[in-house]
Order: sequence, then C-alpha cells, then structure tokens
Amino acid sequence: MCVCTCIVIILTIFVIFFVQKFSNKNKNKTQKFKTTDENKKNYKKLISVNFHFTRKCNYECGFCFHTAKTSHYTELEEAKRGLRMVKEVGMKKINFSGGEPFLYPKYLGELIKFCKTTLELESTSIVSNGSQIKESWFQKYAKYLDILAISVDSFNEETNIRIGRGRGKHLEKLSDIRDWCEKYNVKFKLNSVIGTYNWQENMVEEIENLRPFRWKVFQCLLVDTENAGEQAIRKAKEFIITDQQFEDFCSRHRHLSSFVPEPNVLMKESYIILDEYMRFLNKGDVYKESKSILEVGILKAMEQIDFDEKSFNARGGVYDWTKTDHLNVNGNCGSDDKLSW
Ligand code: SF4
Repeated sequence: MCVCTCIVIILTIFVIFFVQKFSNKNKNKTQKFKTTDENKKNYKKLISVNFHFTRKCNYECGFCFHTAKTSHYTELEEAKRGLRMVKEVGMKKINFSGGEPFLYPKYLGELIKFCKTTLELESTSIVSNGSQIKESWFQKYAKYLDILAISVDSFNEETNIRIGRGRGKHLEKLSDIRDWCEKYNVKFKLNSVIGTYNWQENMVEEIENLRPFRWKVFQCLLVDTENAGEQAIRKAKEFIITDQQFEDFCSRHRHLSSFVPEPNVLMKESYIILDEYMRFLNKGDVYKESKSILEVGILKAMEQIDFDEKSFNARGGVYDWTKTDHLNVNGNCGSDDKLSW
C-alpha cells in the first residue's frame, strides 16, 4: 500500500469520526425542550404540581384516592432531578402528598428545603393525616414550608373509625399541629372528604376554633383502580353521596370564610399528579399513567395524560399560597406583592 493510500484511509477515518460526533451532539440537543407555542401551553399547566411520593400509609380510609399499590419511592437525588425538570418548565407550587408523607420525615424535609431554597418555588405545601408529625420536624424544616394541610373528615371519633381515619385518636393532635403552625409561621389548612358517614355533620364550631386559612371540602370521588374497579384495593362505593347531599353539607358551612367546596365535577383531571415513580397520573373515571419524567422528559409524559385547565381554574387552583407574615428563608421581609406571573 502506497503512502498516499494510507493518508487517504486515515483522513477518511477522521472524517467519519467527526461526522458521528457532530451528529450525536445535535441528537442530544433535539432531546431538550423546544419552546413552540404548543409546548408553552403544556408548561403553563404545570404551575401547581402534586407529588405523591409514597403510597404507604398508617391509616386505612375506605375511600382512599392513592392506595398502597406499591411501597416504592424515588431515591432522593433522583427526585430532586425530577423536581428541577418540572421547575424549569414553570412549576410555582409543589404539594407533597401520599400515602402519608410524614412516614418519611427526613426525605420530606429535605425535598421541602430543596424546593424552597434551591428551586425558589413560590409555595411548598404538604397534605398529611397528621398522626406522625412531631414538633422537632417543625423546628428543623418549618421555615421552608408555606402550607400544612391536615385531613379531618369528622369531629366524632366513632365516625373517623368507620371511615378508616385512625383508631379513635385522630383528633388528639389537631390543636397541637394548629399551634405549631402558628408558632413556626406555617399556613394551617384543613381538608375534608364528605361522604355517607359525615354529610349530615355540622362542623362549624370546630372549624371556627381551629381557624384554618383554607378549608377544602371534597365530595367523595370514585377513582378507577384506586377505590373503584376490580383491581382497586379500596371500594368507595358505600361512601358515595348525591350532589344534593353534598350541597346540603355545603349550605351549612358556606358562610365560613375558609370554606372551599370541590364537587366531583371539578376534581376530575384538574390536578397534575406525579406518583412515586414520577409518572403523571389521570384520576377519575378512567385511570391513565404516563412514563416517568425521569425517562422520557416532561413533554412526552404530559402528552400521555389529560388535564382540564378550566376545572383547575374553576376550583380555585391558584390562591394565596405563599406565607408572607414573617422573614422568609432568604431573610427578606415578606410582602403582599402580587404573584410574579
Ligand atoms: S390518610 Fe390519606 S393516604 Fe392514608 S389511607 Fe387515608 S386517604 Fe389514604
């Protein structure tokens, strides 16, 4: 083989190597999000996200919307990676839910801290049954938390037992938690699910005493694969009430300033839910799940579920969700400035 032929072969190998490298670089680029109008529309839906990072729970509510089908949770650094991805496309508020999130107090605290300090979200929030919360958690993490919502469906322990909310001690810690929220500057919220066993109850006095800034009242909903259908662990049919019964409950409580009702029609598909694998879920008549955002990215995963933005707005999905009374975590004074979007 002559010298010229050798040079030509070497040059050809070089050219092939660089062409391949260049095309891989471009391939990686195209996997990033494009900012087309369609994509911007999808990003807008991700303002408020619910991360149900665990399905494990110490209670057995008969209507549970997110049952213990797995014991999986996404490892902390991976969960942070996923949350950063959602923030990059527009998340302003995160709510951590379960299962019972306080079964993992350190994991929960570290994610709250990450979302408030590193991602600088407008609002961090938790929904809990309250049974596992300790004051020591507030001492360490409350400064990063805007809202704590506690689930309470009845102020009668016998009713709570029938529902499956604990074994007779569910109400014991409620006023302690409210006091800790006041002491550590966290907005205190209540959530109630209204069904067969509590729609006739009058809760006015107890709600006035507990003084939540927001009291979310849900009409019990059938959710395919969670509390309805053959595969479901729970069967919520016995808890279902008519729209008129829900309205009766609402009419007794509507005068309370914290009262925010949510009938079935507004609940379905109006929540962006990430599950323990960081997959988007559709809850309602038909269950759908996307691939994990960690595998396919946000937009691909969003395309695999439905989201009803009108219902999100109609149920008041955006509200006064940042605590502003005291110094915030960066040491600046809070203000009543309008939200930045
Ligand atoms: S406390 Fe919440 S997660 Fe636990 S069983 Fe009840 S509804 Fe389900």
